[in-house]
Amino acid sequence: MNKIATNTFQIPLMPRNAINMYLADGYVFDAGIKKNKNRIIKALNGYELKAHVLTHAHPDHNGASKAICEYFNVPLWCGEKDKDRAESGYVTDEYPNNQHWLAKLQNKYWAGAGYKVSKTLKEGDKVGSFTVIETPGHTSGHLSFFNENDGVLIVGDVLTNMNLLTTRAGLHLPPNIFTVDPELNLKSVKKLIDLNPRIWCFGHGPTLLNTDNQVEKFHNKMIKSF
Ligand SMILES: [Zn+2]
Repeated sequence: MNKIATNTFQIPLMPRNAINMYLADGYVFDAGIKKNKNRIIKALNGYELKAHVLTHAHPDHNGASKAICEYFNVPLWCGEKDKDRAESGYVTDEYPNNQHWLAKLQNKYWAGAGYKVSKTLKEGDKVGSFTVIETPGHTSGHLSFFNENDGVLIVGDVLTNMNLLTTRAGLHLPPNIFTVDPELNLKSVKKLIDLNPRIWCFGHGPTLLNTDNQVEKFHNKMIKSF
């Protein structure tokens, strides 16, 4: 567990920060893939947990959600438009081609069972000291979470800081094959930049101290190539 700021921790679930989850103010953000269950339970043991929150319902973010909610007896929260998938467990349903072999593979080996969503979150809601930011595009109900006090941003998959194939660090947009609306997602990138976050915490890849406007430069480059 890596401390990012007061009461905010990154929990890398795979080598090279390939899949991350976060613990902040007693809230658990995301839950890796199904087989991460024991690792997550071990990492969270001893903490007083309030709820488990999803940035989005995809197989590499809610794989162990049901296990965590049941083990720690906490409710599951997510964006309104991701609710059905979080509850059914059929989390690849919104992929542009959900019959793609990668989608089938992820559904079989990564996705966990669905779990009842107790509350849906919308723009401006509070999760501890974090404000909910609606960032649709990668999924319809994708959410990011911003702490204005210390500039920590839990990004989800609006952007990744890793090449998902090579695991090499670097900014990337999420792959189109897993993204329902890439154009809308790019608008969500801009929305996050405008918050002027200090630390970007990604679903994939190492956290980024945005000292040189790297994210804005990346976004400008992407806008041109889009
Ligand atoms: Zn992801």
